[in-house]
Amino acid sequence: MKISRQKKVHRYLSFFSNNYGFRKPYQILIDGTFCYAALKNKFNIKEQTPKYLDGDVKLLTTQCVIHETSTLGHSVYGAMVIVKQFATHRCSHNDKPVPGSICLESMLGVNNPNRYIVATQDKELQATARKIPGTPLLYLHQKAPTLEQPSAASSRMARINSNEKFEVNKFDKDTLTDLKHKKFGVPEPQAEMQKRKKKRGPNPLSCKKKKKKPAKENETQTSNMKKRKRIRVPKHVKEHWVSLVKEELANN
Ligand SMILES: [Zn+2]
Repeated sequence: MKISRQKKVHRYLSFFSNNYGFRKPYQILIDGTFCYAALKNKFNIKEQTPKYLDGDVKLLTTQCVIHETSTLGHSVYGAMVIVKQFATHRCSHNDKPVPGSICLESMLGVNNPNRYIVATQDKELQATARKIPGTPLLYLHQKAPTLEQPSAASSRMARINSNEKFEVNKFDKDTLTDLKHKKFGVPEPQAEMQKRKKKRGPNPLSCKKKKKKPAKENETQTSNMKKRKRIRVPKHVKEHWVSLVKEELANN
């Protein structure tokens, strides 16, 4: 198998794995037309499919598909032998078998919840499978197995789902933010930033004031000292007071 083909298969399987939860072993739902083409082109489903998908696979069919191939007679006998080798997944047509394409369509439902890879050469069933999001399609191009690129429906739904996930995350984030700020009173990140800025940021005006303050204090100190000096009694007055006191003491 060429490298480009391998890369394509890997890319498509990664898409279904990432967006629709496909895991190994892959479940391959096979109809009579695929078995018929495999026999005609000498493609060994059991051996070559796991190699092509690079992983273990579960080859599956339904009772309706087996019933259909058995009713088509000798020309599809080989296909019937092949399809009978596969495990049968229970469908909802136990009492009254329906054509294989209708049965497989019912197995896929609206969104392929069981994650089947559909293997069919039936053009109508292929068209139906393309409309069901998350349904990989496998067919034979002559003897080359081909996993079709994800259909438009699969890609569209994957895109919608990823957008929804984003929306949910955004909703959660908003709710948590509300809870933090309104109920627990945690400050808004912007307010915190502003507070920090105020604390951190050097305010040139305050710096100048600080320089001025000690100067003012000195001034007041010196002014007090000056006042005291003014109050200080001159020497001759003091001497006069002393003489007065001495006179009084002498008289007494
Ligand atoms: Zn059925």
